[in-house]
Amino acid sequence: MISALGRHEVSRFVLVRLTTDTGLVGVGEATATPRWSGETVWGAQAVIQNLFAPLLKGCDLADLASIRERMDLAAIDNWFAKSAIEMACWDVLGQNAGLPVFELLGGAVRPLTIRNRFSLGAYAPAVAAERAAQRVASGFTTIKVKVGTGPQLDIERVHAVREAIGPDIHLTIDANGGWNDEQARYCLERIQDCNVELVEQPLPRGDYTHLKKLRQDLGIKVLADESCFDEIHLRELIAHDCCDAVTLYPGKQGGIAQACRMAAIAGEAGIPCTIGSNLEWDIGAAAMMQFIVSTPNVQIESIPGDCLGPSYHEFSIVKNPLKIEGPFTSLSTQPGLGVTPDWDLIEQHRIQ
Ligand SMILES: [Mg+2]
Repeated sequence: MISALGRHEVSRFVLVRLTTDTGLVGVGEATATPRWSGETVWGAQAVIQNLFAPLLKGCDLADLASIRERMDLAAIDNWFAKSAIEMACWDVLGQNAGLPVFELLGGAVRPLTIRNRFSLGAYAPAVAAERAAQRVASGFTTIKVKVGTGPQLDIERVHAVREAIGPDIHLTIDANGGWNDEQARYCLERIQDCNVELVEQPLPRGDYTHLKKLRQDLGIKVLADESCFDEIHLRELIAHDCCDAVTLYPGKQGGIAQACRMAAIAGEAGIPCTIGSNLEWDIGAAAMMQFIVSTPNVQIESIPGDCLGPSYHEFSIVKNPLKIEGPFTSLSTQPGLGVTPDWDLIEQHRIQ
């Protein structure tokens, strides 16, 4: 993946294995992407082992609110590390009940097979155009183009992709906060003829003032991603009338429960949510799917997200991966998160 944040070529993860006194084993994943969330595998491992794990010994896993509170008191932020723990708790709770996590979250509100958009890296315009056309041929109906890597190339890339995919395919862009206000205006004015439906994170995270004005002045539809990690961020986005939609996902929000809660808060304000991706692996992607299928305000039918992380990786770390075919990802009805780690394989790939 190439974006405003640079090239992502190697993924590193922290996997949490949580064992209970009843002999169940839950698993969680911290998807550590330093450029994006600030978390590293080394930091996440340290905070989990030294701060979070000791707090959880002897805890009732069903009391997720108290587990979250303990972790928040021990360390601010560290969203993906917290979510790895919480994910493992959900996995155990599901296995204990003999139910998939989505049933514990209130049941499926949409089919277990979802349609994704394709997130296209910030390649040279000709390459981007070619790859976009290939994805459309394989069934994708929404293409998201990464921008924020330089105004001229951004403008050329978006034009090239629109030309390659034709007028009927949905097109969105994601700057990953890589533009400043001036660059955003410059680029957005020059791609007005490309029918870009959503502009994701055009400005750096936290810049609510400029985001509000940009949205108003240009009449664009804004999808907030990096601007929305915690509940305060979400409330600020709503209060400032900054966005038309928000991406939520278990990792960024510090857990499935918090992602559900924030989806409900956004819903009360009339803001639809979708899901974003940090190139999760099998376990993180399974948690995403559990959240998607059970959360009404994750409106992927009208604003497709992407839950394709495992397909970016060379091999699978679980024995029963999510089924990913073209634009579709399918979740099974197996208990817990629904994926069974291959611990031998994981051990072989441990970072020394
Ligand atoms: Mg994004």
